[in-house]
Amino acid sequence: MVLNKAEMSDKPQYISPPREGLILVITALVIGISAMFVAGNWQAEQARDRLEQRSKQVLALHKEAIFGLLDKYSLMTVLVARRPGTKEMFVSYQTEGEFENLAILQSFAGHLAAMSGAHRVRLALPSGKIIAQSTLESTSGVFLDSGLRDTALQDRLGRATLVTPERLSQDFATRPANEMSIYAFAASVRHQGKIIGIINIDVGLEVLENAWALSEDLIFVTNSAGDFIVGNQLAGLLGTENFKSYNSEIEMIATQISGKSQRFLARGEDFPHIGWTLNVLINEAPVLRARANAMIITGLIALLLLGLGFILIQRRLAYQSKIEAERKTANLLEQKVEQRTSELLGANKKLQKEFDERVVAETALKKAQASLIQSAKLAAIGQMSTALAHEYNQPLAAIRSYADNAVTFLGQEKPKNAEDNLHRIAKMTERMAQLSRTLKTFAREPRTKLQSVILQPLLREAIILVEPSTNKHNVQLHLSKIDPQICVMAGYVRLSQVVVNLLSNAIDAVTDEEQRDVFLSAKLEGSKVSICVQDTGPGVAKADKNKIFDAFFTSKDVGDGLGLGLSIAYNIVHDFGGEISVGKSKHGGASFVIVMPGTLGNLQTEKGTDRNG
Ligand code: ADP
Repeated sequence: MVLNKAEMSDKPQYISPPREGLILVITALVIGISAMFVAGNWQAEQARDRLEQRSKQVLALHKEAIFGLLDKYSLMTVLVARRPGTKEMFVSYQTEGEFENLAILQSFAGHLAAMSGAHRVRLALPSGKIIAQSTLESTSGVFLDSGLRDTALQDRLGRATLVTPERLSQDFATRPANEMSIYAFAASVRHQGKIIGIINIDVGLEVLENAWALSEDLIFVTNSAGDFIVGNQLAGLLGTENFKSYNSEIEMIATQISGKSQRFLARGEDFPHIGWTLNVLINEAPVLRARANAMIITGLIALLLLGLGFILIQRRLAYQSKIEAERKTANLLEQKVEQRTSELLGANKKLQKEFDERVVAETALKKAQASLIQSAKLAAIGQMSTALAHEYNQPLAAIRSYADNAVTFLGQEKPKNAEDNLHRIAKMTERMAQLSRTLKTFAREPRTKLQSVILQPLLREAIILVEPSTNKHNVQLHLSKIDPQICVMAGYVRLSQVVVNLLSNAIDAVTDEEQRDVFLSAKLEGSKVSICVQDTGPGVAKADKNKIFDAFFTSKDVGDGLGLGLSIAYNIVHDFGGEISVGKSKHGGASFVIVMPGTLGNLQTEKGTDRNG
């Protein structure tokens, strides 16, 4: 298919590569970054939900720890106060005197504290005056906390959070070991409806600090005024402004910890009956981490997709440019083919024209050749006419005298002699008829077809044709012994014309010589037959050897020769696929040799040879 010009100049149907690539990269970046933020926020939300959930669980867990601790001591305080032994100790103290029983009371307080793990156990009178305690400090002039005492006197369990004044003002992290928060319980000891004493058990809240020590969250307890009571080590890293009671709704706080800015999810739970709020601050880092991780992963996926997209685009571009290059090559090729085709068509036309001209010329040439051959033959016959006239006149004269003599012999009644004469006349007429037949065949228009021709009769007939000339000029013509089976591929008439021409030339060459011999021989060598005509004439001059076969080359006088004989012979022999050459004869004169394809043929079959060719 040949593309027309409009099709060939069509621009490619895709966007130019750099622009397409840029648009895709920008789109991919926008989508990738958006996806990163969406995924980051989504993961952050999830992590935040988990943290909120965890803050609830942490609160519940540590609430358990607080109440597990406090319930144990509240129960113990009540049980110890109600215990008959305790009552008896206070009764004895009042009735039997202070000094006897003080040691017992102190020992009791000491044992109770040691066995329960309480920070301190104290025994007080209803006035609040401490009479004995588990620790070694002096009790003189020391009174129970009035709030505790009043509650105990109302026959209720007294509770109070006791925090040393310095504690609240101090930095938690650098707090001295002997300073701690205490939760105190107090219960009254009754005897006969009257309160005779008060049992006070102080619980050191460092137990809670220890329980929360391993937690990764910031845990601390505040009182109803929002003051810090107890918390874990991590909570101690907070600035004092962050120590307050948080409510059950999540609150985000940002603060500096160890010089680093951090954010926490803060949540609190109130325990109204003990006046505490348990607060937990969970680091927001997992949320940030989840967001960052999600963004990184999404970013990586986006990058991967971008890379893949890039590779695909590259491949597509490479493919498109390959197709484009192929299209261009194909167009170029088509153009070339088109150009070449038109060139070839032109050349073909020219060739055809030349061919036609050649055919015309060839036909004209063939016609000219044929007519030349014919004219040459007729010319040869013309040249031979004198000899032929002599050839016919002689026997005619002889026939005439034989006939006259025969008449005379019949008159003399010598029929035998007359019969002899008649026989001679018959022989002579036969010979004249043979010459006439041969001339007729020779003068006939030749055919162009080649056929197998038996050589011997052809050469004999040629001799018959030139015999008048040999007779006239007294030339001896020697025919060598020729194998009657030798055949050549030729035209009969044309080959005999060539031989006659060579013999005629040889006869012409020897007419002025003393010795007038012409030799005709033929032999088969392999697949080639050579026919040789030699004479005892002057031979061919060296300078003439190259020109001798040219048309119109003659050394004879005007009217004697046309200079066509050898030129026609040359063409005829070449038509038969043979060669003709001239050389020097061993007999002194010229030697003409024809070499042409031949073979030994079957005489029977060759007999019917068409003599027209
Ligand atoms: P033509 O016989 O009409 O001259 P040819 O072509 O037959 O034309 O011969 C050309 C010339 O070749 C002759 O004129 C003669 O000079 C020379 N030639 C041919 N045959 C012989 C020969 N046997 N001996 C010497 N010269 C020859």
